[in-house]
Amino acid sequence: MLDWAGFVAAATYTFDDANPSQIANYDALQGLGVPFTFYLWTNRPGASNDIWSRAVTDGHELGNHTQSHLQGTSANLAEDTDAGELFIQSHFGVAAYTMAAPYGASQYIDIASTRYLINRSIGDTMVLTNGATDRMSVPTFIPPEGALATDLNRRIDAAREKGAWTSLLVHGFTGDGSAYLPIDVSEFIASVEYTKAFGDVWIGTMLDIGAYWVGQKVVREATSQRQGSTTTWSWTLPEPFPPNRRVRVTVTGGTLSQGGIPLTWDEHGYYEVSLDLGSLTLAP
Ligand SMILES: [Zn+2]
Repeated sequence: MLDWAGFVAAATYTFDDANPSQIANYDALQGLGVPFTFYLWTNRPGASNDIWSRAVTDGHELGNHTQSHLQGTSANLAEDTDAGELFIQSHFGVAAYTMAAPYGASQYIDIASTRYLINRSIGDTMVLTNGATDRMSVPTFIPPEGALATDLNRRIDAAREKGAWTSLLVHGFTGDGSAYLPIDVSEFIASVEYTKAFGDVWIGTMLDIGAYWVGQKVVREATSQRQGSTTTWSWTLPEPFPPNRRVRVTVTGGTLSQGGIPLTWDEHGYYEVSLDLGSLTLAP
């Protein structure tokens, strides 16, 4: 299986809290031509902004950052998480597959595990394909206030060296009094351009890259059954899991098929395996 869909590394840019400077700079962000993940804190005024409908149309991900952004010791964290989800669904017509725990609090792990594919937490580590990262606690790097493009670029360099997936979290841009640790929008844009210029870094949403990463793990851990010289692997996807997702694989010989239908070789150098179909067969 190809790690990160065949890219050297992967990067996810996330924005939290629905802050005003994210909305004010949306056109500049959209102009970068890469998908972002916006984690909405839904009882904030900015969460009701129509910009998030546009973001959905433009191919960005909306994720749940809860209704009230409660501390980890509050009693009603699950209700508050569900209220955030309801807001997103009723206002923007999409269900979130990923959430971001307020403050990265570990109390949200259990809540997320019955509701989401991925819970983003906080931390400096990166995700490796075969690493031990729990999908209910995917770390994200928060640049310090006023960080420069070079500070963000170092993170991308490290991901490329390690063949890892890094996520980055920005709350907003300089001048935005609501944003925690703001950075200059020009520095952010310069860093995304830096990442794009490599051409070998998959820049995708938490959902897109996360579903590939989880899907690859599911297939890797699939049950295999041999019959003569034919091997069939079977798997079950976790709930929830987005439909129509694929992982890319190569083989040294033989015929790969799913549901009795041979897979066709993609000229870019791989077969695409449908995760929905739940099984894969290799025959000589
Ligand atoms: Zn937050």
